[in-house]
Amino acid sequence: MKSSKAQLAKKEFLDKGNKLPICVNDGCNNTVVVREWKYWSFKSECGSCTDCRKRKLYKIIQGEKIIKKGTKKTIKNDVIIHKKDFCENNNGHLGFSCPVKTNLWSNFLESLDLDHIDGDHMNNKPKNVKTYCKLCHNRKSKETGDWDSNKPSRRNIDI
Ligand SMILES: [Zn+2]
Ligand SMILES: [Zn+2]
Repeated sequence: MKSSKAQLAKKEFLDKGNKLPICVNDGCNNTVVVREWKYWSFKSECGSCTDCRKRKLYKIIQGEKIIKKGTKKTIKNDVIIHKKDFCENNNGHLGFSCPVKTNLWSNFLESLDLDHIDGDHMNNKPKNVKTYCKLCHNRKSKETGDWDSNKPSRRNIDI
């Protein structure tokens, strides 16, 4: 049987001794969702957290969204959701201002992304993962060349 490119990419990833990053959410030890093996493209959250967040299966305690243990089979601890409901560039720290007011995002949550500040999708430390709207995310990626496949932080096998 001929292996697909995705299967080959997965094998190479594991053969190199790489491990899937752990979910960015504090208290969660699941591995992240794989977006596409072909590009070693991973999300920042595990499937259970993504599901709980989207279905609003959490309590808000002191401003933090907490998924209580047992909410989903695979969530064993109280888990703090890392993703914000607004663009974290609301203070202009990327060097340009977010054009959308912070309080307008609640009806457009699907337009918020989790971005790895250093462009390394394996670096899932909470400090390295920020919530940006698609406008700010696109501009940041363009300016920093996050998606430049020649960058050393990107995977280095040909497809
Ligand atoms: Zn998780
Ligand atoms: Zn923004």
